Amino acid sequence: MDFSCVEECAKCCIEREYYPTIKFGKIGVLVMPDEKKQMESLAEKNGISVTVLPRIGVSEAESEEPQTILAYQMMGRESNGNTCPFLDTESSKRSPHGGYACKIYENRPLACRAYPVIQSTPISLDPKCKFCENCGTPSGNVDSELESLIQIQKKMDTKARYIWRYATGIGESKDKDLIKTGWFLV
Ligand code: SF4
Ligand code: SF4
Repeated sequence: MDFSCVEECAKCCIEREYYPTIKFGKIGVLVMPDEKKQMESLAEKNGISVTVLPRIGVSEAESEEPQTILAYQMMGRESNGNTCPFLDTESSKRSPHGGYACKIYENRPLACRAYPVIQSTPISLDPKCKFCENCGTPSGNVDSELESLIQIQKKMDTKARYIWRYATGIGESKDKDLIKTGWFLV
């Protein structure tokens, strides 16, 4: 069956996961360095508050922190890290498949355009996407998502010696003791 969003679903704009482990806190929507300013200015235009944290950094020499940030992440608006700040859960507007609408759909980040494709060779989809949960791997209709993922991979390609991951410090209150904040070498 070809991929299409499940009726009334907005799961990928709401649910955020710990990645790669609880220690790193819940992640936000991946935002490329060239998208960061645009997200911040779209938030301002829409009267929305957004928190954009670093996600991945790199450095060539040993240091306390990375020298260059390869990717950022836009955090959820709930204290537990869930729900994208651009998801319109208040109005009666709905997306074409009936889920909550994205307030910046035409300008959404590459990561949102790529989802649910999470790997390009071989193509793999996020099993947590509602379509995949219900119907398994789709037989097609993911070309534009794949193209967006490949763009992300090109932007994040690096030969840097040291790779850093930022721990967001955000998650469920029951997990607070396990969640760290700041840069960690990976
Ligand atoms: S991509 Fe998947 S999880 Fe996201 S809205 Fe569509 S069906 Fe739901
Ligand atoms: S920017 Fe839009 S598409 Fe992306 S997670 Fe937020 S609401 Fe969903």
